[in-house]
Amino acid sequence: MAGGWARDGAVGEQIEASISDELARMQAQKHPVGQSLTHCAECEEPIPEKRRVAIPGVKLCLDCQQDRDGTYKSRVGINRRGSKDSQLK
Ligand SMILES: [Zn+2]
Repeated sequence: MAGGWARDGAVGEQIEASISDELARMQAQKHPVGQSLTHCAECEEPIPEKRRVAIPGVKLCLDCQQDRDGTYKSRVGINRRGSKDSQLK
């Protein structure tokens, strides 16, 4: 009786191992955005690891990202909107 138990457990472990193997393979293929940078592409400030984990393929530090997104009011109105409009019309 006890032998059956041990065998079942071994099979379960094998299945789990092949699943995690599969997951690892899937994750390895998931690289459409490229690797996160350790330092900002704009100002070369170090990017916090939390941010790199949260945003796969992150290239900018928080400041530069906000700047680019137009979240900061200090640098609004370069001419992003103007050039887009002219392309549309
Ligand atoms: Zn930056």
